[in-house]
Amino acid sequence: MATWKIGSATITRIEEQVCLAMQSPAKHFPGFERDVLERHMSWLVPDHYSPQHDCMVSSFHSWLIRTDQYNILLDTCCGNHKERPWAPRFNQLDTPFMDRLRGTGVAPEDIDIVLCTHLHADHVGWNTVQRDGRWVPTFPNAYYLFSRTEADYWNLRSNLSMQGDPRRVVYEDSVLPVIESGQAVIIDGNHALEDGILIEPAPGHTPGLIIMKLDNPEARSVAGAHGDRAVFCGDVIHHALQVYAPHWSHIVDQNPELAKLTRRKLLEYCVESGALLFPAHFGAPHVARIGESAGGFTANFVPGLIAL
Ligand SMILES: [Zn+2]
Repeated sequence: MATWKIGSATITRIEEQVCLAMQSPAKHFPGFERDVLERHMSWLVPDHYSPQHDCMVSSFHSWLIRTDQYNILLDTCCGNHKERPWAPRFNQLDTPFMDRLRGTGVAPEDIDIVLCTHLHADHVGWNTVQRDGRWVPTFPNAYYLFSRTEADYWNLRSNLSMQGDPRRVVYEDSVLPVIESGQAVIIDGNHALEDGILIEPAPGHTPGLIIMKLDNPEARSVAGAHGDRAVFCGDVIHHALQVYAPHWSHIVDQNPELAKLTRRKLLEYCVESGALLFPAHFGAPHVARIGESAGGFTANFVPGLIAL
């Protein structure tokens, strides 16, 4: 498993699956321009695009962030044995995700904080596991952080328009059991988790999406580190090629115009601050430093260290 060092924090990618998109990029990204794809083909194949299928490659992974204070699991993928009839890639999975997490030396009991950037099926799945026919929290000692705007959006009690949406089951099997167990912490607006860890709203893909920034001035210039700043952006940006085309929406962006503004703001932040970008779905090597060129952005991949 690949690991990055940001200041004194250690970040490990926990993979659930890497697979092809269900449709061509033209359908996946409204506003898609094939010439942009052609221009970048040399680095897109094979980890980001499959020419023989004409499909983008997506990774589904969690970020395990070990700071001096906390073990944080950011986004929890799709989970096993969850009924997701509208999304074959998420439906009734049986992956060794938990074995991979344990492989880092971190047991479910050791997770202090679970942070779900938003409440889509591929970001909350491992929040719960089935026990005696019920969905119960996977991480017994963790607080689970959800944005209030996001939680209210998916809750039928506060948003009647969710009635009839098949994705409501995600809230019921992967969010509600956590709220009922008393382990949920609902946050509003900006939130500081500890010194140098900030959670901020980044709406567009979903109404209440939140991102996490790691920025600890006391940890500057730690020997062997990949940098001293990072941003974990969930689905503000889906694919590495969108760095070069941030105006492409993703088919699931709930508010495409706002999502574009938020995506551009994120990339500008990365350029200005030098923060490494840790997205939820970029193909290998999954993490990029964002640069600037001719009014646009560039992605320079930063591979993690592989423990043997
Ligand atoms: Zn996602």
